[in-house]
Amino acid sequence: MYKNIKHVFFDLDRTLWDFKSNSREVLTEIYNKMNLANRGVRSVMDFITTYERINEQMWEAYRTGNLSKEKLRYGRFEKVLLIFGIQSDSLGVEIGKYYIEHSPYKVGLFDHSHEILEYLSKKYELHIITNGFEEVQHVKLKESKLLDYFKSIITSEAAAAKKPDIKIFKYSEEQTGAKSHECIIIGDDVVADIEGGKNAGWKAIHFDPHREHEKVADANTIYHLSELEMLL
Ligand SMILES: [Mg+2]
Repeated sequence: MYKNIKHVFFDLDRTLWDFKSNSREVLTEIYNKMNLANRGVRSVMDFITTYERINEQMWEAYRTGNLSKEKLRYGRFEKVLLIFGIQSDSLGVEIGKYYIEHSPYKVGLFDHSHEILEYLSKKYELHIITNGFEEVQHVKLKESKLLDYFKSIITSEAAAAKKPDIKIFKYSEEQTGAKSHECIIIGDDVVADIEGGKNAGWKAIHFDPHREHEKVADANTIYHLSELEMLL
């Protein structure tokens, strides 16, 4: 149903790499290791949900250019600790470091990731297009054995622009030698991936594994990665 497509661009976090479950695994380690129960954080689930709420807000500020990478990485934990009445910048930094060092080594993927990449790699050139940090995303891809499927890994750091900025999509075309009508993006983020891709003249498929979103205009929605076999 998609004509002329030659290049399939995957978002990484929350599209192939199961960010939520991997992140929760590390947060649970942190909760135990840093003895947060005895410092006033009532339960690990309290810690996780508070972190996720704060992180979402701060990541959005980072994405729109209102927060530096450093402030995002450490400030989010300082803020979470403050909510639980813990005033310690050094603990925030220690936790931030642990989180950044250990998260990329988690290997939880969405169901059918390997199978669908195996299938698609025989028909298309596959690439990653991600707003994640350069060094972090490479570790994730390598550790979860995804690296070999992809011809190029486009990060916002290398492109000097974040999705949905059209610049990262045009940069991707330059890097891969693709024309916009030959490109499709598959991602979980309605704004960054889907609106961004469509603005650049790409086709787009929205991955909505937890069925959280309304259907997006001019884009197919899939709920499981295996559905891509019917579309591509
Ligand atoms: Mg994503």
